[in-house]
Amino acid sequence: MDAVLTFIGMGGNLGDVPARFERAFQALDALPGSRLAGRSALYRNAPLGPPGQPDYINAVAALETLLEPHALLLELQRIEAVEGRVRETRWGPRTLDLDLLLYGDRRIDDPQLTVPHRGLPERAFVLYPLRDVAPELVIPGLGALQRLIERCPSWRIERLEGGGNG
Ligand code: ATP
Ligand code: MG
Ligand code: MG
Repeated sequence: MDAVLTFIGMGGNLGDVPARFERAFQALDALPGSRLAGRSALYRNAPLGPPGQPDYINAVAALETLLEPHALLLELQRIEAVEGRVRETRWGPRTLDLDLLLYGDRRIDDPQLTVPHRGLPERAFVLYPLRDVAPELVIPGLGALQRLIERCPSWRIERLEGGGNG
């Protein structure tokens, strides 16, 4: 079986988020049958959801993996739990959110998993970091990433340091 290229959206606004991302990148690279193939820069964003929360930091990881989509989702939730993720208010503050944005060109829609991720087309904080790791990406059912960025509502987003492929 060939490895599939997947993209994981990362977000958080509690504690030392860059340090959490660093551990998460390493945890992704350590998953069975998996290799970290790229990491975006970090972006600072105004929060989506309940007001009065700290700004979010977001990034995207490119991961080559032999794991099936639902197995990968369980691993993402396990890594979130290691970082102390507690699910309370929807879109409330969180230590680490790991969303499966894309799984090769597969389209999935069941009670556990929707891929491409539902928020992807309108979220600048997903589209910009995704462009860092896959500028030429064409997304199943949604078209070219660059077009989605052009159509995306303007958003307060600030690019921080870092990122690269390899
Ligand atoms: P959003 O999905 O709008 O970014 P969120 O990330 O805060 O919100 P979570 O609490 O992390 O939401 O996840 C809620 C549920 O979403 C999970 O239990 C999971 O089964 C489901 N889910 C559906 N599709 C995906 C996906 N592509 N990646 C991650 N979780 C998903
Ligand atoms: Mg999310
Ligand atoms: Mg999530």
